[in-house]
Amino acid sequence: MAARRADTQAILERLQQMYPDAKCALNHRNAFELLVATVLSAQCTDARVNIVTARIFPKYNRPEHFAALTVDEIGEMIRDCGLWQSKAKNIQALSRLLLERHGGEVPSTMEELIQLPGVGRKTANVVLSNAFGVPAIAVDTHVFRVANRLGLADAKTPEETEQQLMRRIPRALWSQAHHWLIYHGRQVCHARKPQCGECPLLPHCRFGRQGQKKTGSQQSPPRRNRRSGASAPKS
Ligand code: SF4
Repeated sequence: MAARRADTQAILERLQQMYPDAKCALNHRNAFELLVATVLSAQCTDARVNIVTARIFPKYNRPEHFAALTVDEIGEMIRDCGLWQSKAKNIQALSRLLLERHGGEVPSTMEELIQLPGVGRKTANVVLSNAFGVPAIAVDTHVFRVANRLGLADAKTPEETEQQLMRRIPRALWSQAHHWLIYHGRQVCHARKPQCGECPLLPHCRFGRQGQKKTGSQQSPPRRNRRSGASAPKS
């Protein structure tokens, strides 16, 4: 069941108060660095990606740099981020495609971004919103979980969640709301043990309220809903 309009507004206002400085946690200086960092962030923490990119970006920060390297050479540099073989292959391939089709620049449309190897809607939305200032909601594992628990979405997939959030949230808040939901997922609404008893959003949260009713206490709710407790794949 979706949240009422009044709940949606209250949730957004509260999130804004809680996380006024929420922003992209991946260190980058331009669209290409953000694109590479986001590809590296699949199934890896942003903190670890920042450690790895701090070693790489001073020397390798343009498509031509990665296009000239072998997959193994790139893999050696990014090994700590996990899934290094597929990530290295994608970084090399997307760098070559950027040179071939876009003059070495990162395109600024969803249609063009998702043509790049290893770039799905989530990665494209991260780049669009943070590098180009285009309102967008990137649905990662935190956004998927928190939005569906709160009733801002009632969806089975990240794509569906993105569409529903875009309908419910004013366009001007899309990019910020994406950061707010990530921060809340990291700090309070954890995947396994959401801190509902301490969560300011509890009065507006269907998942939290049902958990409170069941336990009759201020404890975290049981994982009664596989959908809202699930992790959406990163892309
Ligand atoms: Fe998450 Fe619980 Fe807060 Fe709802 S009340 S947003 S489930 S921590």
